[in-house]
Amino acid sequence: MVKKYVYLFNEGNASMRNLLGGKGANLAEMTNLGIPVPTGFTVTTEACNKYYEDGKIISDEVINQIHESLAKLEDTSGKKFGSDENPLLVSVRSGARASMPGMMDTILNLGLNDKVVETMAKLTNNPRFAYDSYRRFIQMFSDVVMDIEKRLFENKIDELKEKKGVEFDTDLTAEDLKVLVSEFKEIYKKEKGEDFPQDPKVQLIESVTAVFRSWDNPRAIVYRRLNDIPGEWGTAVNVQQMVFGNKGDTSGTGVVFSRNPATGEKLIYGEYLMNAQGEDVVAGIRTPLPISKLKEQDPKIYQQFEGIVNTLENHYRDMQDMEITIEEGKLYFLQTRNGKRTAQAALKIAVDLVEEGMLTKEEAILKVEPKQLDTLLHPAFYTEDLKKAEPIAKGLPASPGAACGKIAFTAEEAKDRAALDEDVVLVRLETSPEDIEGMIAAKGILTVRGGMTSHAAVVARGMGTCCVAGCGTIKVDEVKRTIEVGGKVYTDKDYISIDGTSGNVYGEKIKTVTPEISGHFATFMGWADEIRKLKVRTNADTPKDAQQAAEFGAEGVGLCRTEHMFFAEDRIMAVRQMITSKDEEQRRRALDKILPMQRADFIGIYEALEGKPVTIRLLDPPLHEFLPNNNEDIKSLAKEMGLSFEELKLTVENLHEFNPMMGHRGCRLAVSYPEIAEMQARAIIEAAIEVKTTKGFDVVPEIMIPLVGEIKELKYVKDVIKDTVESVMEEKNVKLDYKIGTMIEIPRAALTADKIAKEAEFFSFGTNDLTQMTFGFSRDDASKFLSDYYDKKIYEQDPFAKLDQTGVGELVKIAVEKGRATRPGIKLGICGEHGGDPSSVEFCHNIGLDYVSCSPFRVPLARLAAAQAQVKNKR
Ligand code: ADP
Ligand code: MG
Ligand code: MG
Repeated sequence: MVKKYVYLFNEGNASMRNLLGGKGANLAEMTNLGIPVPTGFTVTTEACNKYYEDGKIISDEVINQIHESLAKLEDTSGKKFGSDENPLLVSVRSGARASMPGMMDTILNLGLNDKVVETMAKLTNNPRFAYDSYRRFIQMFSDVVMDIEKRLFENKIDELKEKKGVEFDTDLTAEDLKVLVSEFKEIYKKEKGEDFPQDPKVQLIESVTAVFRSWDNPRAIVYRRLNDIPGEWGTAVNVQQMVFGNKGDTSGTGVVFSRNPATGEKLIYGEYLMNAQGEDVVAGIRTPLPISKLKEQDPKIYQQFEGIVNTLENHYRDMQDMEITIEEGKLYFLQTRNGKRTAQAALKIAVDLVEEGMLTKEEAILKVEPKQLDTLLHPAFYTEDLKKAEPIAKGLPASPGAACGKIAFTAEEAKDRAALDEDVVLVRLETSPEDIEGMIAAKGILTVRGGMTSHAAVVARGMGTCCVAGCGTIKVDEVKRTIEVGGKVYTDKDYISIDGTSGNVYGEKIKTVTPEISGHFATFMGWADEIRKLKVRTNADTPKDAQQAAEFGAEGVGLCRTEHMFFAEDRIMAVRQMITSKDEEQRRRALDKILPMQRADFIGIYEALEGKPVTIRLLDPPLHEFLPNNNEDIKSLAKEMGLSFEELKLTVENLHEFNPMMGHRGCRLAVSYPEIAEMQARAIIEAAIEVKTTKGFDVVPEIMIPLVGEIKELKYVKDVIKDTVESVMEEKNVKLDYKIGTMIEIPRAALTADKIAKEAEFFSFGTNDLTQMTFGFSRDDASKFLSDYYDKKIYEQDPFAKLDQTGVGELVKIAVEKGRATRPGIKLGICGEHGGDPSSVEFCHNIGLDYVSCSPFRVPLARLAAAQAQVKNKR
């Protein structure tokens, strides 16, 4: 049997998404639903993968199947490739399994050549249209297939418009466009050293190959990494008969949503442009009209359009994002997909669809991307400060939120300055797919041109970054690197603030605040909590963070790092004394000073959590991190401690380690200096007793011993803690429950978890260190070389951000199994960065952990990811 690499639209359906890509599967589904879709066929994702397997060569097998399908397309359409009577023109469109807007390329009007263009001109009696289509084709083919700079062509159009004294490309005549075509062909010849290809079949195969190739262009790779899309999925290619929106005033093209993608309001929403083709609407060449205008302009078409929109929404049971084209009064649908939306809109739509009876709560839970919730938890402007501020300009509210930062003029610059911890707002005439990394790095994006469906708007909404688009009153001088508004000039040193909800732009710094969970958000999160089995805790070191996390729904603290408390200015001196002490007695004196401070911290955290469980980790980092590192500081510490400068400097130097990550840290400190663990255990228990007696909260402190690799070291430290705890309870004459457990973060601990569990009452997987030790990558240095690994496709993801399920995950699984075998009820959680990554949360759910713990702002995200994991994999 020969493998089928090409499917006609009427041979596919929506369930074949993996094979046909999202666009192809939906074109097939729409065809089957009887919606007017231009005919065509899809070259599968398997053909793309084969292309890569074969060493970036498109095989004869695939080429033959494309030619066969093309022949069928010619039959059904009654048109023929290259014909001088009735020529067939097609588009070649990419379409991966997951939609990747703007990441890969499309070619329109393929099939045109010097002869066919004449035929088209005669057939349609519209030479302007024919030459407009041809110049577009040459432009797109050159850019996408031949990698000739777009700018070369755009400059020619601008020159011509200027020469003719016209503003829009629609003002150019057939003769103008004819000139443009020959100029474009000259550019092609100059750049490529050969003539523009005249054989449509050559054009077609070259274009299909180019789409395959575009799967691996740098911006697609970045996008995939950001969105967790595996490289092995590949892209499909759709070849589809052209319909023309650029045939004159009864033709047009539009982009529409079945509901408002910014607010979720149940109202058809979108933009269209008459006498235009393809991307014209989103490219910001002319300002498009709101789709409601079409109702006035052509009520009959609008009615048909509205009917199809409703059909599609009911069919897919989700908000749809659609492309339409009208050719001389006849309506076509060119694409539908579940639309990208802002977080606010996603929540409103999910709740509305349940209330409309279209979805169950379980289904609705899957309709919001956990990562999106981020935007809702991110800052809005501080109302008082906002009231005082005067907007200097207003653009379109393209992606909600608030952002404040200094102006960056290029994506490159935004990326570089953000890497140095600077807050920047990226200000551009318009953005293009090459800008993706700068857009990710910027706090907000402001563009001068483009509408609500422009590149900047769509991408910003997808990323949840605040964006104001189409702010035409701002003059950007990209060369001088300034913007000018209302007579005032701003440079890269100046702050601006943008409000993606109102579209307002401010020429000053405005303070931002964090919002709370209410309205649709609260309803939706309530459903997530009803559904999920996995608990969500937070990593919090201060009462303020713990409080914030509790407001976001944290059910306890999974990791409280005590060392962060040591750095405060009023404590560091005592800490340094402790570290540099020459004997136990000196050390104990220093520890006595720290004890009341630690106790006060724990009281604050227990109170913020109102009796929910709190896991406190004993001191973890290597001691020299706390030491003075310049002579001035050493001098003043020496004075304080009654030591000579030389003496102390020597101590400091002796504490230096070659590989501190694997040095004297974690429980090793408690093995050398048990009095540190004693002090911490005392503070933990005294605080719990205090909160119990004064506030009535029954805290069950979970004391966590870090970096254990051997049962005997755990037992040693545990005994120290236990003795202290028992004597504190005796002193105070109060009994309370507590647990002593460990972090599993050294491979040896995972492999001997059956033994470790004899002493440990709980395990918390410290997947940051566990990843570091399993890969042998330093957390602090890996980013320097990981990019080479991404480029060479050895790794696709940062294992510190997304849990490596194959290796590190295997160790976690082993530890879970062995731990439970020894101690069936052992409490299991994860407290690494991964606790806030959706796919890692799903993994934790699947292997049966009790909870994940993540930073406060990721708590809602983890709650949702846990609910989704439950819906997808019931446990
Ligand atoms: P993207 O995924 O970037 O949106 P598309 O493949 O959807 O790329 O195509 C880009 C533009 O070209 C869209 O506006 C689309 O509607 C238009 N287009 C694609 N194929 C055709 C066609 N056969 N006839 C008319 N317009 C088309
Ligand atoms: Mg599209
Ligand atoms: Mg650790």
